Amino acid sequence: MFNGKHKPAEKSQEVSIFLDKLSGRTKAINNNGCTGLVVKDGKMSRCDQADLNFKNEVSRREYTISGMCQTCQDNFFEGVINE
Ligand SMILES: [Zn+2]
Repeated sequence: MFNGKHKPAEKSQEVSIFLDKLSGRTKAINNNGCTGLVVKDGKMSRCDQADLNFKNEVSRREYTISGMCQTCQDNFFEGVINE
């Protein structure tokens, strides 16, 4: 039953975590780097082999939004689709 109170905080917290994850994006892009995460030796680490040979304009634009290189975009979207 509706008790007159909503809690929108969780959603906005999610958004701020998401934005935090993207912080460092500008720096990464300026350095032709990548904000993507890769699993190396069983540990998550920042992608240090940015593949900036983008397949198409959509991927190039995605890089300016998320800072993820082509390889990381492929991994990321593949993961989304497979889930
Ligand atoms: Zn990458």
